[in-house]
Order: sequence, then structure tokens, then C-alpha cells
Amino acid sequence: MTKIIVMGAAGRMGSRITALSKEYADMEIVGAVERKGHDSIGKDIGSILGIGDLGVRLSDSLGAVIDKGDVVIDFTNKEAVAGNVGIAVQHKKAMVIGTTGLSQAEIESIKEKASSIPLVLAPNMSVGVNLLLRVLKDIAIVLGNDYDVEIVEAHHRLKKDAPSGTALKMAQVIAEALKRDLNEVGVYARQGMIGERTRNEIGIQTLRAGDIVGEHTVYFGGLGERIEITHRASSRDTFARGALRAAGWIVNKEAGFYDMQDVLGLK
Ligand code: NAD
Repeated sequence: MTKIIVMGAAGRMGSRITALSKEYADMEIVGAVERKGHDSIGKDIGSILGIGDLGVRLSDSLGAVIDKGDVVIDFTNKEAVAGNVGIAVQHKKAMVIGTTGLSQAEIESIKEKASSIPLVLAPNMSVGVNLLLRVLKDIAIVLGNDYDVEIVEAHHRLKKDAPSGTALKMAQVIAEALKRDLNEVGVYARQGMIGERTRNEIGIQTLRAGDIVGEHTVYFGGLGERIEITHRASSRDTFARGALRAAGWIVNKEAGFYDMQDVLGLK
């Protein structure tokens, strides 16, 4: 039985992870944590989510509940993550982080801390997107520098970070395959008399509208033809199931930094 603590348990992702865990015979939610001041602290997380009592009260302190669990799943926000990792390290618990918007420096600091605990960090936990990341690398290598790369992502109006962690990961994978530095070639906005497109730039554009769960299209534009590869998430459950799969996988792993490609055996 994998005993799970969900950080951000009443949020959009945390609530789906908590609800879907009931379908897995080998998973149990033993802790549910929200930010201090949340209206529902002290109430049963199952009753908050309308899925029947789970016997787990919503807490506002990871430190107070962490010893009940084997693995902490974090879908909170970029400000909360570092503190949560620190507590998991102190208590030697495994971690799955789906929270996005982390800077490269913040990711490096998490990687360092993962030398003492097993930790999965992935900006997108869906099987489809992770398969796509592998395919994109292959396509970029074959097409090489003759095809212009552009990425367009669309998400719901409440999403706080832009571009999405998934779009950035796609851009990174393609940049690495083409031996480019994304810090130098990433173009995140265009307006006015900007001149011709430079050959090596990788465009990453963001749309925000309504309740779009998450859409990513990568264009490889050549002369006389274009390849477009699109992934559409129609429900958050694909990410939530991925997070639960990652939790079951990481719990018995050696300390270290892993991603979803590791979890899915795509490396
Ligand atoms: P959300 O705002 O609905 O939920 C976040 C929850 O975290 C909120 O309920 C908030 O109160 C809570 N929270 C904030 N600070 C906290 C703290 N210190 N301790 C405990 N809880 C705290 O957001 P969401 O849509 O669920 O997304 C959460 C994160 O997950 C975002 O960064 C989003 O981009 C990312 N995300 C990742 C994937 C993936 O597959 N990796 C998929 C979807 C969303």
C-alpha cells in the first residue's frame, strides 16, 4: 500500500488526485494539506470534495502529517514548493512534484536536494505528452535546421504561469536535439516591425481562454510542407492518474532526481 500526502489537496489537481486515488487498491490518501487560512482546514477532505468521508482531515501543516505517509504529491504553486521539498528531505520521504512555473535555478536547487530522497518532477504527467516529448526529439533530429520550430500552447484563464511548463519542456527537448541554447533562441512574443524570422529561433506562444485544460501544438515549418503535432488534454484526470502512477513508482526507488520519462520507461 502506498501512503500518499497531497499538497494543495483542495485545488484543481489535488482534488482530482485525491478523488481518483479511491480507484487504486494499492494507494491510500493519509494526508491532505492546504495553505494556511484555507476555509476548510480541519474538515474531512472527502466531504470537502463531495466524495464521502475519507477519514483524513485537511491540515495546514505538512510537517504535522508527513510521518503518516510514504510519498508527498505536490501540486501547489512555485512559492510553496521549496519549503515542501525541505520538509520531505528532513523526514526522508519520497516526492512527486507537478507544480510548474519554477525557474531553472529553483529546479537546480530541487535537484540538489534530491540527492537524499527519491523525487519525480514533471511539468506534465500525461502519458501522451511524455510520449510526444520522445517523438519530438526524433523528429527534430531528422528535420534538422531546415524547418522552423514554433510551439503554441493554450490553457484556461486561471493558469498563472506562462508559457506552460509543458511548452517549455517541449522547446528544451527540441533545442537540445538541434544543439541550440533555448536561453538564446527562445522567442516568447512578436509585435511590430520585427524583421525576418531568424533561422534558429524557437517561437513559444501562449493563449489563455475559458476552461481549456491544456493544448500544445508544435509546428515544424519547411519549404513546401509543414508538420503539426498536437496534444489535447480534455480532462485533468490524465495528469492526476500520471501523478498517482509516479507516486507508486517512486516510493521504492533510490534517492535521486527522476522525470516522467523515467516513470513511464520511455528513456
Ligand atoms: P490550483 O490553484 O487549483 O491549486 C493549487 C492549490 O494549492 C490551491 O488549493 C492552493 O490553496 C494550494 N496551496 C497553495 N500554497 C500551499 C501551501 N503552501 N501548502 C499547501 N497547499 C497550498 O492550481 P492547479 O490547477 O491545481 O495547479 C497546481 C499546479 O500544478 C500549477 O503549477 C499547475 O501549472 C500545475 N499543473 C501541473 C500538471 C502536471 O501534469 N504536472 C497538470 C496540471 C497543473
